[in-house]
Amino acid sequence: MKIYNFSAGPACLPDPVILATNQAITEYKSTGMSVIEMSHRSEPIEQLFGEVTHRIKQLLRVPENYEVLWLQGGASMQFSMVPLNLLPDGSSADYIETGSWSAKAIHECNKVGFANVIGSSKENNFSYIPNKFTQKFDSKYLHITSNNTIYGTQYKVFPRINNKDSFLVADMSSDILSRVIDISQFGLIYAGAQKNMGPAGVTLVIIRNDLVSKKYRDLPAMLDYGVHIKKRSMFNTPPVFSVYVVNETLKWIEGIGGVEEIEKVNIRKANKLYSEIDRNPLFRSPVNINDRSMMNIPFVFADSSMDDNAFLGYCTDRGLLTLKGHRSVGGFRASVYNAMPESGVNELVLAMQEYKG
Ligand SMILES: *Cc1c(COP(=O)(O)O)cnc(C)c1O
Repeated sequence: MKIYNFSAGPACLPDPVILATNQAITEYKSTGMSVIEMSHRSEPIEQLFGEVTHRIKQLLRVPENYEVLWLQGGASMQFSMVPLNLLPDGSSADYIETGSWSAKAIHECNKVGFANVIGSSKENNFSYIPNKFTQKFDSKYLHITSNNTIYGTQYKVFPRINNKDSFLVADMSSDILSRVIDISQFGLIYAGAQKNMGPAGVTLVIIRNDLVSKKYRDLPAMLDYGVHIKKRSMFNTPPVFSVYVVNETLKWIEGIGGVEEIEKVNIRKANKLYSEIDRNPLFRSPVNINDRSMMNIPFVFADSSMDDNAFLGYCTDRGLLTLKGHRSVGGFRASVYNAMPESGVNELVLAMQEYKG
């Protein structure tokens, strides 16, 4: 039976990527060595880092005045690195709170400076994206979470910055490479790999280069964007294996025709699933219709007395795994990242149609 993994993260990866990784674990590019035992200073790995950076720049059309970094510490490390590098002592930044991840980013910012929470959907269990807010005139940047992995909301239009000295920062961990974005709208974006790009262990940061030179404080080297840029993401031993898998995933996206093409598939997959949720009297969506995520799709039983575990067991028997909703939403969540084939969505829709309760 074909297995479909709907996990929110770490999440499914494309079959060709797993196959290539298998080979590289055994032997990398006829070197007689496994990719996981090779020095990051060796020629093939230097080349790998050059390739993966080139690929991400092509796929995301990264403008010339931006730097690409491959760091460790996950998106969670960026919750701290962003204010440490970009927020002067005693100053403030605007944050929009759209879920647990943005709440954590806010919490970390407050250890460095002040986070103005200018919009929040907390009172409504983060079921929508707030679109009425006023940026503070002296805010250094505005931080958003582009896709809320747990609650299943996603920005369709990004906020405009109304102060020329400020800039937009986005946590794109769960929707990077899923749709076309205009990088020039952002001062910085970051994304942990393990949702839509690869395994855990590496985090992509794309930063406008004029923001790097602001030395607001004497930072530990590992937390300083400037250090990592200067050392081309090899200040210390980088996570070569994770970067290898990301590179393979990027090749796979290129093979499909790039982000433009994968976005079309993602729209089709998400529409199929939402149509079924809306059509099927057994289920409903807890998310505001205009803010529905294309990547993480939570749904619940319309009748809350129905047994979630029974449906989860029914799905497991059909090879549809890890559909349990996050505990803060309940019910079910289908994460349909780039690597989830359309056939997986078809199978899930069929299970929803055939389920008799
Ligand atoms: C998973 C996730 C994180 C946390 O990522 P780590 O790599 O575990 O630090 C942060 N933000 C978003 C939007 C996520 O989905």
